[in-house]
Amino acid sequence: MHVTFRVPAKINIVLSIGPLRPDGFHDLATVFHAVSLYDNVTARWGDEEPRNDDDPRSEDEAGGDAAPGDRDHVSLTLDGPYSGRLPADGTNLAVRAVHTLAAAAGVPARAHLRVTKAIPVAAGLAGGSADAAGALLACNALWGLGWTVERLAGLAATLGSDVPFSLVGGTAVGTGRGEKLDPLVVPGALHWVLAVADGELSTPAVYRRLDELREAGAAAGPPASGTLALGSLAAGTGPDTVSVDASVLGALAAGDASEVGRLMRNDMQAAAVDLRPSLAQTLSAGREAGALGGIVSGSGPTCVFLAQDAAHSRMIVQALEDSGTCRATEVVVGPVTPSQS
Ligand code: ATP
Repeated sequence: MHVTFRVPAKINIVLSIGPLRPDGFHDLATVFHAVSLYDNVTARWGDEEPRNDDDPRSEDEAGGDAAPGDRDHVSLTLDGPYSGRLPADGTNLAVRAVHTLAAAAGVPARAHLRVTKAIPVAAGLAGGSADAAGALLACNALWGLGWTVERLAGLAATLGSDVPFSLVGGTAVGTGRGEKLDPLVVPGALHWVLAVADGELSTPAVYRRLDELREAGAAAGPPASGTLALGSLAAGTGPDTVSVDASVLGALAAGDASEVGRLMRNDMQAAAVDLRPSLAQTLSAGREAGALGGIVSGSGPTCVFLAQDAAHSRMIVQALEDSGTCRATEVVVGPVTPSQS
C-alpha cells in the first residue's frame, strides 16, 4: 500500500514583519496564497520498497534492511528537478515530520518516503514546509490514524511556522510567526508568474539583514496605522502587533486582481535585494512587461508577478526570458489546495 499527496508551494501576497523581539523572533502578518507548483510526497511501508543502494539521494536512517515488527524505521528517496542539494537524512523536514507524527500518535515511525521536488529549495516558496505537510498527510493515511487536518495543524506548527498553511493551502491570513491562520475566500483564479533565481537565500540571513537595514534607517518598519489589527486579535499581544492592510483583504475577497497587484508588498524585499542586487533587474523586467504587481516571494530569491490572465502570464514569461534576469520561469495559478493522488 502507498499513499501520495501533491502539496503546493506558497507565495506571500503581503508580508509585514514586526520589529526584532527580545527573544530573537519577529511577529509577522501575511497573506499566504498556495500556487500550482507541487511537490509529491509518497509514503509506503518500509518493507515494500527497500533502499536503493545505487541512488545517492536515498538514505536509510536505521541502516540495513527494512525493520520488522515495531522498530522505528524511516527512509527517504529524493528525486525531481530540485532534489540535488537536499539532505535525505533525518534533518530533512519530511523525515522529521514522520517522527513527530509517530511520537504524538504513539505508533512506531515506520515508512519509506519518496519526495519528488518541483519546488525550488530555499527560494521563499516554502518547499520544505510543503514536504513536511505532505509527509504528515501521507503517514496519517498510511497508518490509518484518522487525524483531522486541524489536529495535524497543531503538530505542524512545531515543525515550522509555514507548515500549518502548507497542510491546508488556499489563501489565508497568517499571524504570530505565520502559524495562526484565518482562511480567506478568493473567487476565481489569480494568474501568477514565478521568476526563479540562481542559487538560494537563507531565511535567517534575510531576517538579519532586514534588522541591520532597519537599524541603519535604510528599510521601513511595518505600517503603523490604517490597518486591520488581525495580528493583535489572533496573537493577543496588544495594539502594536503587526497587521495586514484591510484593503488587500477586500481586494482579494472581491477578486479584483488589479487592486491586489497594486497592494502587494513585502517587508523582506529590501533585505533580499540588498543581499542579491540582481533581483532589482528581475523586478523591473516583470513590471515593465505590465505585471499588475511584482514582489520578492517571502525571503526570496524567487520573484512573483501577478498577471491579468493566462495570456498575460505568457507575455510576462517571454519578457522575463528575453531580459535574461532569472534562471527559470513558472506559470501558476492560485489558490490551490493539497490533494491525494
Ligand atoms: P521559507 O519557508 O522560510 O520561506 P524557503 O521556501 O525559503 O523557506 P525551503 O525550500 O523550505 O526554503 O528550505 C529551507 C531550508 O530547509 C533549506 O536550507 C533546506 O536545506 C532545508 N530543508 C530540509 N528539508 C527540506 C525539504 N524537504 N525541502 C526543502 N528544504 C528542506
